[in-house]
Amino acid sequence: MKAAVFNNSSEPIELIEFPTPIPEANEAVVNLELCTVCGSDLHTISGKRIEPTPTILGHEILGVVSTIGSPAPKTISGTSLKVGDRVTWSTCISCGECNRCKSGLSQKCLSVEKYGHNVAIGRNALRGGFSEKILLSKGTSIVKVSSEVPAETIAPVNCATATVAAAFRVAQEISEKRVLIIGAGLLGLTAAAFATMYNPTSITVCDINPQRLELAKEFGATQTIQLDPKLDDESSPLGSGRTYDVILDFAGSSATLEDAIALADVSAKVVLVGSVMKSPPIKVDPERMVRNWVSIHGVHNYTPGDLAVAVEFLEKHGDRFPFFAMVGKKFPLDEIQQAIDFALQTKPIRIGITQ
Ligand SMILES: [Zn+2]
Ligand SMILES: [Zn+2]
Repeated sequence: MKAAVFNNSSEPIELIEFPTPIPEANEAVVNLELCTVCGSDLHTISGKRIEPTPTILGHEILGVVSTIGSPAPKTISGTSLKVGDRVTWSTCISCGECNRCKSGLSQKCLSVEKYGHNVAIGRNALRGGFSEKILLSKGTSIVKVSSEVPAETIAPVNCATATVAAAFRVAQEISEKRVLIIGAGLLGLTAAAFATMYNPTSITVCDINPQRLELAKEFGATQTIQLDPKLDDESSPLGSGRTYDVILDFAGSSATLEDAIALADVSAKVVLVGSVMKSPPIKVDPERMVRNWVSIHGVHNYTPGDLAVAVEFLEKHGDRFPFFAMVGKKFPLDEIQQAIDFALQTKPIRIGITQ
């Protein structure tokens, strides 16, 4: 079997033959159905983000179980996996024993390992989606996926959609709230669609890219604001006297975040998701936070429960929004380098890798 190995940003991705893995107890091997290429994969490939290498990238993976160990691994709802099951799974592999796992933060397990971010050496080499087969390890939260949902719609569920589900869990009440979503990449678009489920007063999406704002309307945005990255704080369109009850940031721009937090109304929840790379510190007015009972919460990755919510959301409502169309083009694994070049040059929301 073949997998695409990334060494460093100055070398092309290498297709390498690996022995087909044999699953042990609580493990399974899945055949790749579709792996969508996340922005973080592109950041690694272009050298903006450093991962231990050699590695097999790709973590937004949909697969079909081909072999299972004995005993078979269980899904998070407790059913044993069977050959032929169509599955997605958590990007994090957690021990289930440490304090963090026991306190409900398994994504921050003290010995966490991750799909698509693992050194591709030894028995656990096959943990990335740019591969014909992936070995699912003990400690992975697995969820079965209906055969009726298109692969393009569901493949990003274990990254974008599950993270959005975690952000909404933290934001708590959405009904009759004014929601501000910063960033109209796949997470922001998904958040707009997700917000429509809860009957908010308004869903405002902001981004610097006007095409993405047009898309945001198709995902449920009731208003959009185009941000100009060159504007200073005083003239930012966000700073025009509006206020919000729920502010969800998926862009990770410190300047925009600073503007947005200043618009938090009484009892507002501000959820930071996008700041996953080193970014400048921001100023927060502590008096406003105190008098307005504002909460600011960071969210990174998600729990198994968030993943289940995300899968259910796309199974039930995925066809109401153009999720399917967000995968601009699909490439076979053999054309991985062309696929990456295409993604870097044309910047679609996602591209897909198939067998
Ligand atoms: Zn991702
Ligand atoms: Zn743990």
